[in-house]
Amino acid sequence: MKLKIAHLYPDLLNLYGDSGNVLCLERRIKWRNIDCMTYRLDSAKLLNKNDYDIIFIGGGQDFEQSLILRDLGSGADELIKREIENGTVILAICGGFQLLGNYYETYKGERMKFIGALDFYTVGGEKRLIGNYAFKTSDKMKIIGFENHSGRTYLCNNLKPLGKVIKGCGNNGKDKTEGVRYKNTFGTYCHGPLLPKNPAFADMLIEKALIKKYGEGKLAPLDNKLEMLARAQVNALYL
Ligand code: GLN
Repeated sequence: MKLKIAHLYPDLLNLYGDSGNVLCLERRIKWRNIDCMTYRLDSAKLLNKNDYDIIFIGGGQDFEQSLILRDLGSGADELIKREIENGTVILAICGGFQLLGNYYETYKGERMKFIGALDFYTVGGEKRLIGNYAFKTSDKMKIIGFENHSGRTYLCNNLKPLGKVIKGCGNNGKDKTEGVRYKNTFGTYCHGPLLPKNPAFADMLIEKALIKKYGEGKLAPLDNKLEMLARAQVNALYL
C-alpha cells in the first residue's frame, strides 16, 4: 500500500509550523508500514500530473495569499475543485482554508477573489483573533491548537463547520463555528501544528485516504503517550 501526499504552495503557505502536519502524516503512515511519498507543488496545476491521496494547504498572510491568485486564476482553481468533489482527502489551514471559499476582503478593503469551491466568505477585522483554542468536531473529537487570523469566515447555505468552538474564536468569534467540512475536505483555523497535537484527527485523515484508495483503512494503534502528554500540558496551561 502506498499513499501520496501533495503539499501545495509549501514556500508561500507555511505559518506557525504548518508543515509539521505533513511530517506528522508521513510518519504516522510509515509507522504502519505503509509506503508514503510527499510531493511539494509550487503550483496547484501540478495536481493534474498525479493522483494524490492527501492534499495539504498551509496558512499564509494576506500578501502570500495574493501571490497565489495568479496560479488559482489560471486553471488551478478548477483542479482543486475537482479534487474536492472527487473526495480526495484535503486539509487546509487558515489562509489555505480561506482560499477554498468565495473571497477574502482584507481589513483595508482589498478583495481577493478565491476559488469558490465551498460557499463561504471571509472579511478581515481590525483585531486579530489570536491564541490557543479548542473545538469539538461533529464526531466528538476534541481538537486543540492555535489560531492567528484577521479574517472572519462566514459559512453560507448550510455548509457544515468542522466543529464547534469550546474556547477561543474559530471562524468569526461570534457564531461558535470552526472551519468547514465537506466530503473529505477539512478546512480549519487550527495551526499548532494541528496533527501532532491531535493524533486521532491525523489518523482519521489517513484512514479516509486509505478507504478511498483501497476500500478499507483500519489503522493499527500507535503509542501516543508523548502526544497525550503534550495535549495535557496545553490543556493545563491554556485551555
Ligand atoms: N491572512 C489571513 C488572515 O489573517 C490568514 C492568516 C493565517 O493563515 N494565519 O486572516
